[in-house]
Amino acid sequence: MNTKKTRQVRVGQYILGGGNPVRVQSMCNTDTRDTNATIAQILRLEAAGCEINRVAVPDMEAAQNLGKIKKGINSPLVADIHFDYKLALEAIKQGVDKVRINPGNIGAADNVRQVVQAAKDKGVAIRIGVNAGSLKYLKEIEGKPNLTSFEWAEIMTREALDQADILEKLNFKDILVSLKADDLPRTIAANELFAKTSDIPLHIGLTEAGSFLSGTVKSSIALGTLLKNDIGATIRVSLTEDPVLQVRTAYEILKALDMRKFGPDIISCPTCGRCRVNIAQTVKELENRIYSDKELLAKATGLKIAVMGCIVNGPGEARDANFGIAGGVNEGLWFIDGKAVSKIPQADWIETILNKIRERNAF
Ligand code: SF4
Repeated sequence: MNTKKTRQVRVGQYILGGGNPVRVQSMCNTDTRDTNATIAQILRLEAAGCEINRVAVPDMEAAQNLGKIKKGINSPLVADIHFDYKLALEAIKQGVDKVRINPGNIGAADNVRQVVQAAKDKGVAIRIGVNAGSLKYLKEIEGKPNLTSFEWAEIMTREALDQADILEKLNFKDILVSLKADDLPRTIAANELFAKTSDIPLHIGLTEAGSFLSGTVKSSIALGTLLKNDIGATIRVSLTEDPVLQVRTAYEILKALDMRKFGPDIISCPTCGRCRVNIAQTVKELENRIYSDKELLAKATGLKIAVMGCIVNGPGEARDANFGIAGGVNEGLWFIDGKAVSKIPQADWIETILNKIRERNAF
């Protein structure tokens, strides 16, 4: 089932699934008991465009701190809980917008009933998270090292549906599901199979994707493949990195697929022996300046900016952009909306581009 046809689930101010925009999530790596550090990180994530933030809730002290965190932030807050239904009850009492918990892992039926009732009373959604590394059906896999990704997908989907069934039998429908593995074939197969089987919207991501470079490549392929087939209501890019970079990467994936607009589209060449200007440094600084300034970011959203090394490909790309520079020797030919305007020294490139962005209205 593609995302346009899934049921809709509210999480805070957002409606997920059912054709609504794909939302970007991240997860804090602060100690949830540390109110100031967690709020500060979520505010940084929000400034980077993160729309839904998840925190780990390992104990009651962390659960009891969620209300204070919620008061200090603007985005929906998700409590990530394993095994202990009392933590889920406390998190809901503290005002979180979604709980990530697996009903099949929290013991007696009455524990599940209490969590579901509390979630219903407060309008809180529940995400069921199925990870290939911690499957309930792990026994079925033991001694079978050569399972295909499709066989993995069947087991992961069955586990997710069993968990969802527990909630649906209690007439609870505000469910999201995630099916994650640390490799592409299983992640893609599991999400595709689940999407064919159920109308529950999916939160998609590759778990433990790795370092910035390898994690970005793997996540881009996995999420790109699924999103292109209209699978996924929310995404998270897991990287062993600052969570802000996870958010930036998630938006780059959505932008590349033309699914969301966020920040400018910066075109730059890889440079070669013809280049007599510093393109890499210019692009890095330009991005840093734009993404660290809320007003600039809003105004730059939807703009195409080309920063090119020389006259071989430079004028063509620069002409095709809203603003473009084609490098020469320590200077560049400056284009606005397809027209060559003037030559400017490299030292003035960044301020010239930023000033032009400021003059534009937000798209
Ligand atoms: S635009 Fe010029 S400097 Fe950049 S890669 Fe092409 S030929 Fe080389």
